[in-house]
Amino acid sequence: MKHYDYIEWLLYKNKMLTKEKLDEMEQHLFNCDTCMEIFLTLIDEEEVRSAGKFVTNNFTSNVIEKMPKLKIVKHKKKQKKKIFNYQFGYYVAVASVTIILTFGGFYTDLVDIVPKLSASIKVPNKSTNIIANFSDSIVDSTSSFLFSIENIDRNKRRKNIER
Ligand SMILES: [Zn+2]
Repeated sequence: MKHYDYIEWLLYKNKMLTKEKLDEMEQHLFNCDTCMEIFLTLIDEEEVRSAGKFVTNNFTSNVIEKMPKLKIVKHKKKQKKKIFNYQFGYYVAVASVTIILTFGGFYTDLVDIVPKLSASIKVPNKSTNIIANFSDSIVDSTSSFLFSIENIDRNKRRKNIER
């Protein structure tokens, strides 16, 4: 196998040869360890460093671009969950108390008070609007539940009077 010398590889590296010669040498370079060794000695430290810089810059900017997004998303999720648990627990408690008191005979007054209670609670920001709507729907369904109990009660009383 005919090898190329140091000067030839230097010319190859600086593309100071004909296209045919460059292609021929490139082909040889991939198949010859001896010439590859010579060629690699032509690549000085500065070239390696500049290549390293290019890779590092890309890598760093990619990582920086992705890191803060991940952090923010995680933080928001945590916050939402806290608010949700608190408000949901509160409304469930209100609904439960309403139902318990209903059987004690206070339902007519409470049906009026509960919607006022939920209206007086101000929602701090956009993210909790869905929760507030959901909570309102709980109160609403509780109210309609109470109304239906009231109606059944009235109907029973009417029937009793008729008898
Ligand atoms: Zn060779």
